[in-house]
Amino acid sequence: MKQRRQKRPKPGAPQRITKSVTHIRLIEVNPGKLATLDALASVYLALCQQYVTLFCTDESPDKFRAPCFPTMLSERWHRVAIQQASGIAQSWRSNRANAYQDYLDDLANYYEQQKEGVLDASAKEPTWKEWDVPTLQQVCIQANANVVVLEPSQDSCFDYWLKISTLEHYKRTLVPVKFADYHRQALEGKAINTSVTLNRRNDGWWLTLSYDEVVTIQTEPDAPIVGVDVGIANFLTTSTGQHYGTFNGKLRERQRRDREKRRRKHKLRKCLEKKGVEKLPSTSSKSGQRLARHVRQEINRAVNQCFAEHPEAQFAYERLSVAAMKFKARAMNAYLYASNLAHIPRQIAWNAAKRGVLATRVKSAYSSQECSVCHYPDRANRPDQQTFCCVVCGYQAHADINAATNIERRLGDVELQACEDRKEIKALLLRRHEAWKKLNGWP
Ligand SMILES: [Zn+2]
Repeated sequence: MKQRRQKRPKPGAPQRITKSVTHIRLIEVNPGKLATLDALASVYLALCQQYVTLFCTDESPDKFRAPCFPTMLSERWHRVAIQQASGIAQSWRSNRANAYQDYLDDLANYYEQQKEGVLDASAKEPTWKEWDVPTLQQVCIQANANVVVLEPSQDSCFDYWLKISTLEHYKRTLVPVKFADYHRQALEGKAINTSVTLNRRNDGWWLTLSYDEVVTIQTEPDAPIVGVDVGIANFLTTSTGQHYGTFNGKLRERQRRDREKRRRKHKLRKCLEKKGVEKLPSTSSKSGQRLARHVRQEINRAVNQCFAEHPEAQFAYERLSVAAMKFKARAMNAYLYASNLAHIPRQIAWNAAKRGVLATRVKSAYSSQECSVCHYPDRANRPDQQTFCCVVCGYQAHADINAATNIERRLGDVELQACEDRKEIKALLLRRHEAWKKLNGWP
């Protein structure tokens, strides 16, 4: 099993980050043009899917792979499809590998609890369900300048022209692009990337433009470290004792109402089904998507605030495993919370990159159970969700602040970062605990 290595950007190192200028709707000046694009998209999507399947099953992803499926597309388009499929398969494979690693951690955690006799009566042994190969549903074309060229328009009506190679060889279709004022402002003085993304949604075609920005990490190498613990009661808790954002209160209330609504809808469907009604109300939940978006906004706000209030610091934050998330989300709707919890570390990484701040992920095993004074790791140190109370030395603190302190210290803790799994980390913490006892004259 490949080990996930700790990524540590260096101070002063330039980092290239891509900023997207969100979605510009393509104008339907001439329906024929967009129909040409539709025809191209169907063929493209089918071809891309073939390579995605190939790269997720029989072959490893290779963006330079020689074309091997017949298609009406030009060779240039064919290469674009292979490249995009390779990217999709690559991230599918790495997500799957991470999930599998998490499952193994989860399993180890389960047996550990079983041995300690602290397993809930309702707890089941974790199982692994093999992932399905991704199915491309929405048309999303990541095109490069070989197939789509963005050209400034001389005409004052439009800002740019998109020259798109079509299914007919040597024939290009020209689609006008018109910016809104805020697009123009956002792109002012920027060099737009030659790679563009074209999306077909229910309401038409959309173009996404992006530009790169080089951000240098400004953080001094000896900048004070702020540890960040991630959770539900508090989205972020810092080792400096601050809390940012929460899932409790308004968000939780909204989620409860949402679930209630879904349950009623489901009941209605079942009832209509029995009566033989053919057209059933849809089960897809728009409000669920709205809620998820709202949660993300709240998370983004919390992360922004946390960075703004620690301008001179560098950050250490958790590498969250599914096991850790479940522990944090226990007795709640694990899936929903887990998916949102996973958004928090990503947002921390993005914010850090954007601001040129150093942020490092550290191993999080036992960070919420370890005593930050005597290192004793035990579930019993957590009498409830909010409280940390060490059963050996009696140290008491807010549970999240204790965890954030542990995370802060794990940055630069070479010995701990070198541990292969949870078991090794626990053994190390117990050794440190013994050393602490000796030093402080404990029996
Ligand atoms: Zn202690």
